Amino acid sequence: MRSTNLDAVATLELIIRREREIQVWCDTCRVYREFTHADLVALAERVGPQFSLIDRRCRCRLTPGCNGWNRFNFKAGVFRPMSTPEGSAAPSARDRRTASSG
Ligand SMILES: [Zn+2]
Repeated sequence: MRSTNLDAVATLELIIRREREIQVWCDTCRVYREFTHADLVALAERVGPQFSLIDRRCRCRLTPGCNGWNRFNFKAGVFRPMSTPEGSAAPSARDRRTASSG
């Protein structure tokens, strides 16, 4: 089965409207923090409601001076990473798909 759960959290608008729980964490300092409703609204105002957190990462904002990457999890029973197989796949996999369509 595919992980279509990601469809429910595809955009900030969906996350906010459905009140999904989002968590931000750092792959370097290992800090985990709840990404609150207020955080989501503030982000949507800045980047637009159609912005997607899937396969998105940003420089660490959880620990001053940390150069790690912040990534997002969404809650579906347990917290799961907001990433797709395509997003984390090696470039060769995408090349193959492109080649087969052309
Ligand atoms: Zn960090």
